[in-house]
Amino acid sequence: MRFDKFCQSCMLPKKHDLFEVGTEKDGSNNNDYCKLCYVEGEFTQLEIKSGKQMQEFVKGVLKEQVIGKVKRWFYTCSIPQLKRWKKRKCC
Ligand SMILES: [Zn+2]
Repeated sequence: MRFDKFCQSCMLPKKHDLFEVGTEKDGSNNNDYCKLCYVEGEFTQLEIKSGKQMQEFVKGVLKEQVIGKVKRWFYTCSIPQLKRWKKRKCC
């Protein structure tokens, strides 16, 4: 699966109605992230510190939208592998 079609923080698809591209401090776009996650050069939701936490957060949002369990899993299973959360392996 290619990840460049998704926000690199919450996995919101770039084709989604809610998707707006994130912004840098100077007002330019950051194409890696959506506006829900990244605004004016900074990440929002600073209480979310790991891919696992983001996964739980997004699952909660999807649940509120009455999205079934299988789809919830599908939309969130790869979140820990996204750019924001991927940890470089320590040497
Ligand atoms: Zn996002």
